[in-house]
Amino acid sequence: MVKRVLVAYCVDVDACAGWLNTKDGQLANASDVSRGVFGANAGTDRMLKLFKDNNILASWYMPSHSILSFPTQMAKVRDAGHEIGLHGYTHEFVSRLTEDQERKVMAKSIKVYKEFTGKHPKGWVAPAWEISPRSMQILQAFGIEYDHSMMHHDCQPYYVSDMPPNTVHTDYSKDPDEWMIPMPKHTLTNVVEIPGSWNVDDWPPMHFSSRNPGTHGFINPRDIEVQWRDQFDFFYREYDSFVFTISCHPQVSGRSNIQLMHERLIAHLKSHEGVEFMTVAQICDEFKAGKIAGVTISAGV
Ligand SMILES: [Zn+2]
Repeated sequence: MVKRVLVAYCVDVDACAGWLNTKDGQLANASDVSRGVFGANAGTDRMLKLFKDNNILASWYMPSHSILSFPTQMAKVRDAGHEIGLHGYTHEFVSRLTEDQERKVMAKSIKVYKEFTGKHPKGWVAPAWEISPRSMQILQAFGIEYDHSMMHHDCQPYYVSDMPPNTVHTDYSKDPDEWMIPMPKHTLTNVVEIPGSWNVDDWPPMHFSSRNPGTHGFINPRDIEVQWRDQFDFFYREYDSFVFTISCHPQVSGRSNIQLMHERLIAHLKSHEGVEFMTVAQICDEFKAGKIAGVTISAGV
């Protein structure tokens, strides 16, 4: 049986937004911000060339701040035919917003998006993949068809449930009988999930940040390349159809040694029969049309 493998490059153009959002209100480090400028300029140009050279249309998730701060650069992405998706305004952590704030950010992001593209957005990626328990309902309410922030599966699309799977809170201040209960049953939404994975993301292993202990930055890209290839190779052996999403950032993957890694990785992926590069929006369409099976997620009782 010929396999069907849908590969998507997911490019988060966090640019300066992620650095300006210092999360605790302290002033942004100007050197960090300069790395965001690099991402929006040289990094974006290199990613565009990488995709052009390999005949790939990718999905670029842009905080509104990036669209409005680097309009000429972001227009290059748009005009090259790539998909553009939502990624917050200043890369704010949605998990820390009130419901009112979350809805207001979504409304503003969609307004900026429409003015930039002339279309209604189809997909959303939560900044830093931090969502709130309300996010899926809010996506539904705003007519967003897919999310790319969750990880109920690592290589199959599915309809996502209305709550993340951590709704039981272990509250040590209370009697254990109050929290010794199974996870409540979740109901499915009409939002399609094209899952992401921290294990196929360039930022944590390959981008140093002195203020963020969760990042490294000095790992040999060849070691990361092997980890990503091994995941793909396992999926290819085990599944007749699957999706493989690669999360990257122009300020990380736009760097010279990591560009070389992507060139080698793309050649490896393309050497497999049945591999098709497409945007996440196209994968969503394929799933909704029943052209790729996906899975049904069960959670709670
Ligand atoms: Zn991001």
